[in-house]
Amino acid sequence: MAAPYVVDGTDLRERLSCIQERIERACRRAGRSPEEITLIGVTKTFPVSLVQAAREAGLRHFGENRVQELVAKASVLPGQIDGGDITWHMIGHLQRNKAKDVVAHADWLHSLDNLRLAETLERRATMANRVLPCFVQVNVSGEATKFGLAPEAVHNFLDALAPFEHLEIVGLMTLAAPAEDPEAVRPQFRLLRRLAETYSPKRNPRVQLRYLSMGMSGDFEVAIEEGATHVRIGSALFGPRREA
Ligand SMILES: *Cc1c(COP(=O)(O)O)cnc(C)c1O
Repeated sequence: MAAPYVVDGTDLRERLSCIQERIERACRRAGRSPEEITLIGVTKTFPVSLVQAAREAGLRHFGENRVQELVAKASVLPGQIDGGDITWHMIGHLQRNKAKDVVAHADWLHSLDNLRLAETLERRATMANRVLPCFVQVNVSGEATKFGLAPEAVHNFLDALAPFEHLEIVGLMTLAAPAEDPEAVRPQFRLLRRLAETYSPKRNPRVQLRYLSMGMSGDFEVAIEEGATHVRIGSALFGPRREA
């Protein structure tokens, strides 16, 4: 048996079940089923041995914000697209010159936010003969440093994705502004949900906004109360990162 992976004095299994309990409690408050929620462990900056340990603890969804890091980890622990039993989510900003690697090794993309990127992804996905599930990233906080579309541009952008047959638009994604009190960002999550709910599927039948990717370590419970289906959790699961 592998040695337990200890983070801040606590076994990873315990940390995982603690997060799962918090997800369940948030679901109960909102009258939702925990089965609606996909927990994505964000492993950026951590070694692949941590991904392995989390997989052994039962986690199946992993997120990375840099393509190179995702590709390196997926070469050791393959995602579904490479025949593995875990799912790799590319959650960070994506440049067009890395689209090929994402199409080759990422199962899902959370950061589609411009048409030229969509065109490149479509071309690559066509060549690879696959469909790439994508979230459209929205900048709900209005911070200039954030990637993503302005909320008022989202519906027209979704319309414009109609020609891309190899991109499956599954939902909207956002990062809320950092806040001491997660209640402060509740309106941002609510705005993302409203943007999804008010998009008429008649405009582009290929767009099915079934999912909302929102909520991180500091605010995932509020995000779930506001309709999140995919929460992206790093530090609360794996401890603090040493960022470059
Ligand atoms: C790093 C990251 C997360 C996780 O952040 P934590 O606060 O550590 O949970 C979630 N989403 C994206 C896009 C990230 O880059």
